[in-house]
Amino acid sequence: MKHDLLLGFLLLAMTGCGTTPEEPKPPERGVTRDLAQDRAGRVSGLTYDMSWEVPSDMGELVRGEETIAFSLSEPRKGLVLDFQQPRENVLEVKANGRPAECSYSPDHIQIPADALRDGTNRISIRFIAGGSPLNRHEDYFYTLFVPNRASAAFPCFDQPDLKARYRLALDVPGDWTAVANGRALSEERVGDRLRFRFQETKPLSTYLFAFAGGEFQVEESQWNGRQIRLFHRETDPKRAARNLPAIFELHRKALDWLEDYTGIEYPFDKFDFVAVPAFQFSGMEHAGAILYRDTGLFLDESATQNEILQRASLIAHETAHMWFGDLVTMRWFNDVWTKEVFANFMAAKIVNPSFPEVDHQLRFFVAHYPAAYDIDRTRGTNPIRQELENMNEAGSLYGPIIYQKAPIMMRQLELLIGEEAMRTGLREYLKTFAFANATWPALVGILDKLTEADLKMWSRNWVEEPGRPRITAELQMDGTQIGSLRLRQEDPLKRQLTWPQRMTPVIGGKGKPASFDVTVNDKTVVVNEAQGLPRPTFVLPDGRGVGYGLFELDERSRVFLLENFHTLPEAVSRAAAWMTLYDALLEAKIEPNGFMRSGLRALKTEPEELNVTFLLNTLATVYWGFLSEGERRTLAPDFEKVTWNLLLSARSPSLKAACFKGFMRIALTPGGIQRLRLVWEGRLNLQGLNLSEQDFMKLAWELAVRGGDDTQDVLAQQSRRIKNPDRSREFAFVAQAFPGDPDRFFESLKKKENRKHEPWVLQALTYLHHPLRAEKGIRYIRPSLDMLEEIQATGDIFFAKGWLDATLSGHNSKEAAQAVRDFLGSHPSYPRRLRAKIEQSADTLFRKVGAQTSR
Ligand SMILES: [Zn+2]
Repeated sequence: MKHDLLLGFLLLAMTGCGTTPEEPKPPERGVTRDLAQDRAGRVSGLTYDMSWEVPSDMGELVRGEETIAFSLSEPRKGLVLDFQQPRENVLEVKANGRPAECSYSPDHIQIPADALRDGTNRISIRFIAGGSPLNRHEDYFYTLFVPNRASAAFPCFDQPDLKARYRLALDVPGDWTAVANGRALSEERVGDRLRFRFQETKPLSTYLFAFAGGEFQVEESQWNGRQIRLFHRETDPKRAARNLPAIFELHRKALDWLEDYTGIEYPFDKFDFVAVPAFQFSGMEHAGAILYRDTGLFLDESATQNEILQRASLIAHETAHMWFGDLVTMRWFNDVWTKEVFANFMAAKIVNPSFPEVDHQLRFFVAHYPAAYDIDRTRGTNPIRQELENMNEAGSLYGPIIYQKAPIMMRQLELLIGEEAMRTGLREYLKTFAFANATWPALVGILDKLTEADLKMWSRNWVEEPGRPRITAELQMDGTQIGSLRLRQEDPLKRQLTWPQRMTPVIGGKGKPASFDVTVNDKTVVVNEAQGLPRPTFVLPDGRGVGYGLFELDERSRVFLLENFHTLPEAVSRAAAWMTLYDALLEAKIEPNGFMRSGLRALKTEPEELNVTFLLNTLATVYWGFLSEGERRTLAPDFEKVTWNLLLSARSPSLKAACFKGFMRIALTPGGIQRLRLVWEGRLNLQGLNLSEQDFMKLAWELAVRGGDDTQDVLAQQSRRIKNPDRSREFAFVAQAFPGDPDRFFESLKKKENRKHEPWVLQALTYLHHPLRAEKGIRYIRPSLDMLEEIQATGDIFFAKGWLDATLSGHNSKEAAQAVRDFLGSHPSYPRRLRAKIEQSADTLFRKVGAQTSR
């Protein structure tokens, strides 16, 4: 019998081993929780003294040297360093002055016990750096080590709770400049090279250590007598001049506000930030050296109100991280959401006073709820706080549940305990864990002391469990008056959970609707104030955008709101009603044509730009995804007309721009396409609409995807018009998705080096799968899914989800849905988190197909 024989052999082998001294087992790949805990218990007082050389020729490798000094206990256990590069990249290792006989395993260098000692140790390593976290380009580079990529670049302890002080020397080509976490102490010219030395940093987690170099312009400003600087590559002087004052002012305001709120001075030695072309994220909060995607800072003249707000929020978000994330960091990456939620939560508080004309309740609603629901209604959703066994899966924790749902939860928490207690608790949290690490339960412990409420239960349901409640309103009449109005919440996943929360039901009849503030602690709550009021024409279980859940409308309310939601006097009520109707559409309780007509009616009268954008986005999704081809063609003239008229009558340039972008997305009739064409040619000038180079690029792509006879000509002409070299490269890249040889382009994406500029890849992929080309695009679905694991492993943390969204959102056919189902079916043991991402991304596709078959 095979098994028994094998077992006997194993037993023999094991007894054999027992007689020789124990060889340390090679560590598992990545950084497991056990490894991290063991090291955090034994290593302290950590510093990295490093020197890097970045050649100008991209073909040459980047070399580095480092001395890692620390205090160690239990040296007899040996010590594991993380380095995700082949053994050849390690040129020399010395431990405490002597060459060390290390052993190597994938992702690790093991320092033998006999080279280590109790107390202070110094490990010196010469190495060839891993390339991908260095993001090298012709004339600039930047490091991006979040979440576990520091060890892909250099040997280190790559876990957030081994904070270290970094001393950095950086050698770059002579015509470059450089920036890092610490202040530049010296700049020395050696031949045609420049050598920068940076001041030692405060204790930082590896993912927050950063440096960048290249041809950058440097702008300076002052804040409270201190210098703050922006590094950028914007070549259009007007665009720079237009944006610079606001960029600095927003940073200054955020810094002032945070010092005041936290009661803690800005914790790092200096404050710089860098605008990077095609940066992977909108921003990354490296302590004292924030990186931003340049387009998020330098706005076009045509920027929408949304984009202006987004910039302010982004700057406030990254600045808030200096306290929440950088000063106090999560112990392990499972709590990465805590830093994100506080950054977002603070950003909202910071930005609001600067925009008194904005309806912030509405803004919070449209910025958080639609995106949170997009995930939380799917099978693939996840709790806010997730388990994490290994740092090499940390990237997959990120997403709208962290960025959008968690702030909703945090606002509810603040409503529960009060603003004062929240601020007091957060101050204590920051003070207690400054320059160290904390966990979510530690914060709950601090806040729990400041409130009567049971925060532990609260946290379990909101934070540790996925999903949202289904909430219904039960109305009982007593003659012509309301006898009782009761709200009921249920757990659709049958776990019997409740989500204690504040809700704002709105009921309407003749005259102004009435709204109520209620706290739902249990499964049901009676809205006492509603009793005795006349019979309402509708009941909206949450009509002011506070409560969180799937709000179900009764038949009468649904019919009424579909017809009349645009007449609700409060902007946030219209948004909440529209969200509720959209949920009803996805639940197949409203048919798409009726939904479209309702939205178009609302567009004609909606005065709030944020609502216009929200309406245009949902309408475009339904238009391309839920209508049949025939229905779409029938509706197109009306949709175009409404959008165009809105554009013509818009008073603000930003609303005009929002309408133009909306129009560009939906234009389908020959007349509509001709309009786009005339604008692109410059023959149709719309007063108040200021189009930038990027807008013209986008217009050219939108014309190309609509496939006129002279597509190649449009692309070629546009390419000649572009002045900025970074944008020129972007245009050429995306243009490969159009006629010519899209198959070859898709094939090229299988090579990692062709996926270097992720935003470009996602843009191109969206066009490959545009609804107008969906029939052809289908053939890329399966290979795209096949590539997903590799995309996740080689790209940044949002790439996998972005890749899926770009691949699936243009489709609405049974065949496309089947391709996804087949993939999932044929991979029963596919990595759990990645599978969940597919289920999240495919949810709308599945619903679109369901909506067609149900009609
Ligand atoms: Zn963040």
